Amino acid sequence: MKKESLMEMAASMDANDPLRTYSSFFPKSDSRLIYFDGNSLGMLPGPALRNLQDVVERQWGQRLIRAYNEGWWMKPSHLGSRIAKLIGAGSDEVIVCDSVSVNMFKMLVAVLRNSGEKRKVVSDELNFGTDLYIIQGVIDLLDKGHRLELMKSDDGITISNHELETAIDNDTALVSLSYVSFRSAFMYDMTKVTELAHSRGAMMLWDLCHAVGAVPVDLNKANADFAVGCTYKYLNGGPGSTSFLYVRRDLQERLFSPIWGWWADADPFSFNTEFRPAEGMRKYLSGSVPILSGSAMESSLDIFEMAGMDNIRKKSVEMSSFFLSMVDKYLKPLGFRSGSPAVPEKRGSHVSLKHKEAFRICKALIDDSEGDWTIIPDYRAPDNIRVGFAPLYNSFSEIAILTAELARIVEGRLYEKYDNETGEVT
Ligand SMILES: *Cc1c(COP(=O)(O)O)cnc(C)c1O
Repeated sequence: MKKESLMEMAASMDANDPLRTYSSFFPKSDSRLIYFDGNSLGMLPGPALRNLQDVVERQWGQRLIRAYNEGWWMKPSHLGSRIAKLIGAGSDEVIVCDSVSVNMFKMLVAVLRNSGEKRKVVSDELNFGTDLYIIQGVIDLLDKGHRLELMKSDDGITISNHELETAIDNDTALVSLSYVSFRSAFMYDMTKVTELAHSRGAMMLWDLCHAVGAVPVDLNKANADFAVGCTYKYLNGGPGSTSFLYVRRDLQERLFSPIWGWWADADPFSFNTEFRPAEGMRKYLSGSVPILSGSAMESSLDIFEMAGMDNIRKKSVEMSSFFLSMVDKYLKPLGFRSGSPAVPEKRGSHVSLKHKEAFRICKALIDDSEGDWTIIPDYRAPDNIRVGFAPLYNSFSEIAILTAELARIVEGRLYEKYDNETGEVT
């Protein structure tokens, strides 16, 4: 590989990148660290540290309980209205609360308890564990004869239109899909799939975990019924930060969350003995919402609002396309192949790179005693190295270095000194 020309090409792409200065919002203590795992746990935004310090020292430390009336109580709605702008929703259609799993549970129960004669939930075999488990759990809990049908993938990367057309039928109550698939980065046509679901009388739930903050989303344009998503991946809200829930305005009154917590009550501080649901999205809250992680997220949302989703998507496509062309040119002969869609319109912001030694290659990349760089992607069984491109802090030069390092590790068989033992988290 002509390493110099590769580095030069990447450097000139960086020089022309309108977002190049944004990486300074995400300071690194180790200049040899390259982080390609923003699709699992986003980096810490520098301004979040200062915001968190204020929330902890001043708001919690000095204002104490008074701080609830000074912003904390309304935080789930305020954060929701800011996330709404990133996903094409109205400011009164999104609320921040609970985990993705719990929000899915609430909407699954809300829909399936009133699904009439319809008995089917459609998802796909590429979907993330929790999404499928929650559906299975709700079907089991309600015990009304619902069943889950998983659309099959011919290539392990995409789901065909034919599968969609045959699986989503008049017996379908709900279609529940990830907009961007966590393993392959395959991205559905949100408007078309939602239209198809509605044409068969089914409701549509989109999981935006691998999309929000990475690709533009327009829930209102697609007329989506529900959406959930997490905030610790591309949105950089920090480990375990609270997720968000979208319910289309005209459905908010009609449906009910099965978790009647006090934050969802119309008058929580009356402490009435009978629950009366609040209006709008607040009726989908359960109990207390974490304030600390919400504060970290605010600093990150400031950065997204400055950068603009169109700029972010443009750079994301350029990054994944650049990497795929490097794979084609330099890495294919070394046993690598892409496990992601080739066309950008069908691809989110990461690339799955397949190799039969994927796991040990990953270990070599991450090992800081091996080579000049510590490079962190992640591994997804059985043979995927997942490379996440976060346009706010990743650069084209980093992609060039990754390419050179992958080639060096395989050409020198450097992965052979690592074993196949996995830790608790991969
Ligand atoms: C990360 C992720 C989740 C996470 O769910 P939590 O309950 O918030 O832990 C769910 N679904 C998908 C598709 C994900 O990528």
